[in-house]
Amino acid sequence: MEKRLEPEKVVMVRYGELFLKSDPVKYHFIGILLRNIRKALETAGHSCRFESPRGRIFISGEKPEEIAGIISRVFGVVDVSVCTRVAADPEALRDAAVALAAAHLHAPSRFAVRGKRQSKTGMNSQQLGEFIGSAIYDAIPGLTVDLTRPEYELYAEVRDCGGLVYDSRIPAPGGLPWGSQGKVLCLLSSGIDSPVASWLAMKRGCEVSHLHMDGGRWAGGDVKTTAIENHRRLSLWCPGADLQMIVTDAEPFYDRMQELRIPARLRCVLCKRFMLRAAGSLCGREGAQAILTGENIGQVASQTLANLAVISDATTVPVLRPLITYDKEETVALARRIGTFMEKPGDLACRAVPRMPATSAMHEAVRESEAALGIGELLDAVLARVQYVTAHNGKIL
Ligand code: ATP
Ligand code: MG
Repeated sequence: MEKRLEPEKVVMVRYGELFLKSDPVKYHFIGILLRNIRKALETAGHSCRFESPRGRIFISGEKPEEIAGIISRVFGVVDVSVCTRVAADPEALRDAAVALAAAHLHAPSRFAVRGKRQSKTGMNSQQLGEFIGSAIYDAIPGLTVDLTRPEYELYAEVRDCGGLVYDSRIPAPGGLPWGSQGKVLCLLSSGIDSPVASWLAMKRGCEVSHLHMDGGRWAGGDVKTTAIENHRRLSLWCPGADLQMIVTDAEPFYDRMQELRIPARLRCVLCKRFMLRAAGSLCGREGAQAILTGENIGQVASQTLANLAVISDATTVPVLRPLITYDKEETVALARRIGTFMEKPGDLACRAVPRMPATSAMHEAVRESEAALGIGELLDAVLARVQYVTAHNGKIL
């Protein structure tokens, strides 16, 4: 191994669950992850060098902090650290560690050094930690070593690719790389739930596209723009990729329900069935294998188990509902964490919602209403007029 004389900054990327796979699957997924990372950085204007020794990805480029920030939003990545890389020997690590600690660690403070080594020769991990820890202790007066509850942690690793020193681990979302699990179409509304459902599917490696059904005059004045805003925010979680959204004009559907005086209590179930029909049809066109919604047991009157069964029956495409058992507070907490929660949501009220929606809509009554509506033709008319909205790195193109 060539000795590096000048310490250099590198970004170290850890990935977790990919380790559980067999070797061929693991390499396949790591390939996808690397491709996603390259694309995320390239489209953000970073030109970088990549190394992928066992279990890690190293990235060298200008502005490593910015690079780490971008990578911390890439699914499949568990955490990211900006490291100083030196020669893989204890003395070089010690000097780099003392320099790093001098910049960030101030007395009085409790600190710990976590040593780690890949090879079986030389100092073991604990000895390495002690060696570096005592150098820091001597260099900065007034410190206390505390291995159980430190206020500052410094990591020193001896790896085949060099010695690494760092003091922060930026958490990333984990999960599986975007696009490693096929494509799903997410029914995206202006609400809190469906963006979270979309994010959870992305986290499991799905390539997500969005479908918004624009209710026109039947939807609150801010519904469509808020749904597009959800779409834009979610694109920050697939950096480098184009996130697609289909917007359909569904106003004729609601107009027709009113025109034909369809029993008000059935409207919510009919509306959701119409959305699933549209999604099911578009899945074929878009090459998606499942539909995703933000539905949840008992959240609103239309989401009883009985209604969900009647709703699901509108399509043969599998319907995934990742939030099905979430409490609202859990969903809101996640929405805040991923940045889709909106403090001032605007006018999102649906004008078609009845005062008393049916809680166990009868299949028979629903089918009769759909026959009266001429649901097949309505669907064709609505799907004939779709608009595509592409979001990329937090911008609508
Ligand atoms: P959310 O559930 O996303 O917070 P919401 O509460 O306004 O939105 P619900 O009536 O709970 O909507 O709808 C259940 C699910 O149906 C949503 O999670 C979403 O997947 C889908 N959905 C609702 N409205 C629309 C719409 N206008 N376009 C596309 N999908 C929608
Ligand atoms: Mg909801």
